[in-house]
Amino acid sequence: MTSPLLPTFARADLQFDRGEGLWLVTRDGERYLDFGAGVAVNSLGHAHPHLVEALTTQAAKVWHTSNLYRIPEGERLAQRLVDATFADRVFFTNSGAEALECAIKMARKYHSANGEPGRYRVITFEGAFHGRTLATIAAGGQAKYLEGFGPKVDGFDQVELGDDEALRAAIGPETAAILIEPIQGEGGVRVVEPAKLRALRALCDEHGLLLIFDEVQTGVGRTGKLFAHEWTGVTPDIMGIAKGIGGGFPLGACLSTEAAGKGMTASVHGTTFGGNPLAMAVGNAVLDVVLAPGFLEHVRAMGLLLKQRLAEIKDRFPSLIVEVRGEGLMLGLKMNVPNTDFIAAAQAQHLLLIGAGENTVRLLPPLIIGEAEVAEGIERIAAAAGRLEADLRGERRGAA
Ligand SMILES: *Cc1c(COP(=O)(O)O)cnc(C)c1O
Repeated sequence: MTSPLLPTFARADLQFDRGEGLWLVTRDGERYLDFGAGVAVNSLGHAHPHLVEALTTQAAKVWHTSNLYRIPEGERLAQRLVDATFADRVFFTNSGAEALECAIKMARKYHSANGEPGRYRVITFEGAFHGRTLATIAAGGQAKYLEGFGPKVDGFDQVELGDDEALRAAIGPETAAILIEPIQGEGGVRVVEPAKLRALRALCDEHGLLLIFDEVQTGVGRTGKLFAHEWTGVTPDIMGIAKGIGGGFPLGACLSTEAAGKGMTASVHGTTFGGNPLAMAVGNAVLDVVLAPGFLEHVRAMGLLLKQRLAEIKDRFPSLIVEVRGEGLMLGLKMNVPNTDFIAAAQAQHLLLIGAGENTVRLLPPLIIGEAEVAEGIERIAAAAGRLEADLRGERRGAA
């Protein structure tokens, strides 16, 4: 049967009817353990009672008013984000790409407002992912997303992660900002060393550049801190977030210092849906849970446990797994076999995992995961690895 959907996704033939916590259930009642969380979005799992309550309560009051009027839930969420971070200002969006669009526009406008409109170029890093709009595919710089879509949006210079010489050489009189994910997600769970981020901060200060962090995937507790950059002691001037902050409701935000936001005055930027009352109610509810005492400690403990257990699996199956990477509950397995084979083998064990660059498999379970679910996931990963290894041995024997 041909689907009416634009075939931009190679979808697994699975459809879920409902969810509860770490579990997704098909129409036939088959249960899958969700270690993907809709790509780090379902931070509190599925059908979290507090989120359901927040959304349905707001749904009975008012859904949308536009940003022509004050939205008290949004003012509250913005204040809470400001109180918890480096930021003084928040702009709400519907997605990560829009949060990054705002960040990029803000950086350009900042220099323009300072009388330097020629400073508009942004330095990004090889392997980056910042979204699918025309500007954010240019920022990400990946050929597979750029090809065939006409001239690449001007103003992005990409250097290799860790190539300090190239980085210095890329900074010119037109450079406005440096944009980086503290841990590359789509790129393959590549952790940027804290020392590197500190060096970027120093470089930005030296050259009057703005430092932009893309914490769309790493943010809102994913790595065991509210934001991943807190592990490094470095703060950005601008930060894009999304994914986890909405817990499954489309929500993103661009956070900035007062200084960095100086050019973003009335009517220079906007959004129809961004920050609507439904999204704001859910965002506040997510923060209620994530900011509660002990929650981030829980994420760190579960992350450590999962990483240790994955290291044991790697030692048991060295022919399949090369490396365990990541921080908190943003973990990756660099594979020796195609990552798609491993994901398929896990799916056969009713465990959902997600692929990423550098032939890695991502584990991004909901942050509410408990010890029993870590054990359950590890059991399924071991079973999948065992099957895959046996299949490969069989193939080799068949070929001999
Ligand atoms: C997912 C992601 C984006 C894009 O978010 P969308 O909501 O899909 O637009 C941007 N940056 C990073 C790091 C991401 O993981």
